[in-house]
Amino acid sequence: MINFENISIYNAVAQFYHEQLFSPKGGIGLEYLKGRGLSIPLLKEYKIGFADNEGSLLLYLHNLGLTPEKMLKTKLITPINRPIKEKNPFLRKPIDYFQSRIIFPIFNGLDVWSFTSRSISLSNKPHLHMKGQLNIYYNFNVFNDNRTIFVTESPIDCLTLLQEYYPTIATMGVDGYKRSSLANFIGKNVFIVFDNDKVGNQKALEFAEELYKNVKVDPFIVTLPKIKKSKIDVNDLYQYCKKEKLNFSRMLLGDSNIILYSEIAEIKPKKEKIGYYEGNVNIEKLLKNLKIDYKEKDKYYTMICPFHDETISSLYWYKDSKRFKCYGCSLSGTIVNFIIYYYEKIYKKKLSFNEALTIAEKYEEK
Ligand SMILES: [Zn+2]
Repeated sequence: MINFENISIYNAVAQFYHEQLFSPKGGIGLEYLKGRGLSIPLLKEYKIGFADNEGSLLLYLHNLGLTPEKMLKTKLITPINRPIKEKNPFLRKPIDYFQSRIIFPIFNGLDVWSFTSRSISLSNKPHLHMKGQLNIYYNFNVFNDNRTIFVTESPIDCLTLLQEYYPTIATMGVDGYKRSSLANFIGKNVFIVFDNDKVGNQKALEFAEELYKNVKVDPFIVTLPKIKKSKIDVNDLYQYCKKEKLNFSRMLLGDSNIILYSEIAEIKPKKEKIGYYEGNVNIEKLLKNLKIDYKEKDKYYTMICPFHDETISSLYWYKDSKRFKCYGCSLSGTIVNFIIYYYEKIYKKKLSFNEALTIAEKYEEK
């Protein structure tokens, strides 16, 4: 619940944290944000701040004339400043809730309603939100005047997309939303861009399902292209593109796997196969049926690539992994990916994943 008494205090606190980011104390925070490729004008626009670990906020609120009780009510001051095993309440001393953290104020219009944060040190919990605030999203102002909404799982990813002019919000972590807040998405085109790792993939699917079942929104799930790493988030991709001088939007929208939730839902029983379909397909039968000439080698089939102009065979289809790769145009993927690309290129027909899967299954060996 929003405590409206706190709003004017929050506005002042956001300003306090923001100024601190640009003071010597905030230098470490500013370096962190610059390292993520976020620009100064962006940090100013979204009033990004810094909380030190010297109790500066407590002092600031004290100077504003707040009583200790009022300070605790803001939830920006916590009563606990001792290890949990310390049971004696008289030894406890109130202290700043956010410490050594980047601070992201959450605005409603021009007023600050809440804060979320990110640790600048690896030893602390990365994301810390104010208690009991799962009903709001970071940067939820964008719901007001945008039909398309991108959803990330962290404020840094959100700001990264905002810097590139995508209307974006962040959930308070992968589980950071409540069912009652989903109504915000009604009538929107939603793109879920969570981290491409095991947890992110799973949670994106769960979030999409919530939207689909509760508010009849059919979101796109954007699975970021893997770049050398086992995990990738929006900011990783952004930094990679900067370093390699690649077009970020082209990578984000062109190289990601983007699929409508309903298309996945249709084939729910086969969920584990999505994007990774290997099956027991007889590749030779499939190739013959598609009238593709190939040569069989020990570990692979090789053929003229149907997806780019060439006279030598650059496309290899590996028997073990059942994945193909063209060393000419660098297209690669699974059997289902191949069928989708092939139908589009040769028959000018766009197949859904499900349709391509049905074709693949015709050549499955029992
Ligand atoms: Zn090719």
